[in-house]
Amino acid sequence: MRKWPPRWIDITDRDVLAAIERVPRHRFVPAEFQDYAYEDRPLPIGHGQTISQPYVVALMTQLLEITPDSKVLEIGTGCGYQTAILAELAKEVYTVEVIPELSERAKKTLTELGYENIHFRVGDGWEGWPEHAPYDGIIVTAAAAAWPEPLIEQLAEGGRMVIPVGPSGWDQMLWKATKIGGAMVKERIAPVRFVPLVSKEEQPRTIAGDQNSPLGP
Ligand code: SAH
Repeated sequence: MRKWPPRWIDITDRDVLAAIERVPRHRFVPAEFQDYAYEDRPLPIGHGQTISQPYVVALMTQLLEITPDSKVLEIGTGCGYQTAILAELAKEVYTVEVIPELSERAKKTLTELGYENIHFRVGDGWEGWPEHAPYDGIIVTAAAAAWPEPLIEQLAEGGRMVIPVGPSGWDQMLWKATKIGGAMVKERIAPVRFVPLVSKEEQPRTIAGDQNSPLGP
């Protein structure tokens, strides 16, 4: 019997834990890594990208403080696992992915699982998705070299943004920022390691590789 979700000491939001329990993570993990689908670690999903560690997904989701009437924007659909967790908790989820094949695969998986409140877009997440703004929550699942100004603009007053900021490699910080009186009130959460949020100029190089990254430490 699998023990899922793990007992994380700082994940106390019952709705988040229930969402993690309900979403079948193995449906988002490639065939060769099925044995690890319910281990608390990131895994390769192709195109040099990863499915995030479940603990990090739980932590970032908890920080977003989603309610059933929330509208959430996610940057970096990837395999769609985090998207599913958001869709369990929010009213509508808008998700942007720069690699078309990943967006299509995630859409297929999430449609098969029966989600009807997810909207997909292929494009540069740095620009957000202005047509549906403002958002009550914005989650970025790739590390931005700097705070993306368009995303700040698209966040609702009182809304939360959860985002790793820093260069590729180890020197990134996970932040939670709340928009209060038009200003971003920022809180440092933890050092993290995410794949980079690629800029428009970098995309061709990043998309060209179709290799699985090695398993993380
Ligand atoms: N959310 C995923 C993890 C995604 S990994 C999960 O649930 O596990 C980060 C994703 O961000 C990758 O799929 C990558 O292609 C995407 N990405 C990188 N730069 C981007 C950009 N500028 N716009 C949109 N997506 C981007």
